[in-house]
Amino acid sequence: MNITFIGATQTVTGSLHLFEFKKQKFLLECGLYQGHREDAERINSTFPFKPKDIKAVILSHAHIDHSGNLPNLSKRGFTGPIYCTPATKDIASLLILDSAKIQEYDFEYLNKRRKELGLPPKEPLYTMSDAENVINQFTTVEYKKTFAPVDGVTITLYDAGHILGSSIILLEAEGKRILFSGDLGRKNMPIIKDPYTPHNIDYIILESTYGGRTHASFDRMTAELKDIIEEGKAKKSKIIVPAFAVERTQVLITMLKNLYEEGVLKDVPVYIDSPLATNVTDVFRNHPDCFDKETYQLFTEGDPFNFAGLNYIKDTEESKSLNEKKGPMIIMSASGMCEGGRVTHHLIHSIANAHNIILLTGFQARGTLGRKILDGAEKVSIFNNEFDVRAKVYFMGGLSAHADGNDLVEYVKNIKNGVLKKVYLVHGDIEESRALQERIVSLDHIDVDIPQSLTQITI
Ligand SMILES: [Zn+2]
Ligand SMILES: [Zn+2]
Repeated sequence: MNITFIGATQTVTGSLHLFEFKKQKFLLECGLYQGHREDAERINSTFPFKPKDIKAVILSHAHIDHSGNLPNLSKRGFTGPIYCTPATKDIASLLILDSAKIQEYDFEYLNKRRKELGLPPKEPLYTMSDAENVINQFTTVEYKKTFAPVDGVTITLYDAGHILGSSIILLEAEGKRILFSGDLGRKNMPIIKDPYTPHNIDYIILESTYGGRTHASFDRMTAELKDIIEEGKAKKSKIIVPAFAVERTQVLITMLKNLYEEGVLKDVPVYIDSPLATNVTDVFRNHPDCFDKETYQLFTEGDPFNFAGLNYIKDTEESKSLNEKKGPMIIMSASGMCEGGRVTHHLIHSIANAHNIILLTGFQARGTLGRKILDGAEKVSIFNNEFDVRAKVYFMGGLSAHADGNDLVEYVKNIKNGVLKKVYLVHGDIEESRALQERIVSLDHIDVDIPQSLTQITI
């Protein structure tokens, strides 16, 4: 088996790995690289292989950094199946269409500017119709059901505990067992099941997003959220919560539902103002088989993602009407890094008022508006207008859906057995991967590599 590490090597986004067994090529994932526009255009538009030669793709989960370049692969000649769990198919379909819509919109704007400058128009990486086409190639497989994407290789998907439908991918060929972690989640998180730990693994390809960090424990998060809401009630705040549409929004809803039942949210309405998050929440309701025992129990008794004080907002008029309403209230909206979506409008109306609160709920990448707010900028620019940041800012890092350094070391330790030959670290900035490498090596001298893009190995 030849493996070429292509994307998410020494960086987080753009997951893409090429496998070749007896001249049959297949991919693990085909994610979008997200970074500065020019780099992203170059990296996403070129594949170091012919898409028409690829027999199949296996997708660990729906996030766009894992699935978001599939329409482009298919546009360039890939016609095979894309294997994933049913929940991944449903969420990926929503995210890929959303990504195509954003690209079409961005390029329309960009091309207006290029026309003014006398430059020729540019094309987006893919359009809505490319996205619709690729969705037809999705082929669902249940967890723990083994299948063969090419002759001589079998694959089994197991729970990764990261987002709904997420899986780790176990490949077997000629008696060797290779584990691809995808994005690995954490134990004891709400809604979904814990990550599964397989055994007798020869090689692990492991994510390392937070390889050098330790998250705050999730147990403290509900108490922290309660304190922030109490402060908001006293100040009659608008509490703006930029939240990722997948998993983070639904986890926060279940936490708020508990607080509502405790009486903490009396007279504090909660608004979910993101059509994408609302649609993703419907997908959650369609896949109770992915829930952990507690959430499944709640599901049999009612709707885990609704309570009397919660309002799902769909049309823009209703969204705008929130600007006129007085706090206290909670407005949860995408995107999680404040880079677009309706949350930017809520920030425009709330950020300069010291009575308000901004609650950041996850990773904020360099260069994003969310990161600037998190880093304590006194002024920020939104749609080319400057705003003073007077609202109080909180960050709840303990909500992360990724394993931290301790979890990743523990995972390898639990897999470790006589046969483990090597660990390859991907999906992490180099300093995170190095920190993790050091810790894993010290576990009984396990061999750990951090491949660069286009590194090829033979197993
Ligand atoms: Zn992910
Ligand atoms: Zn990822």
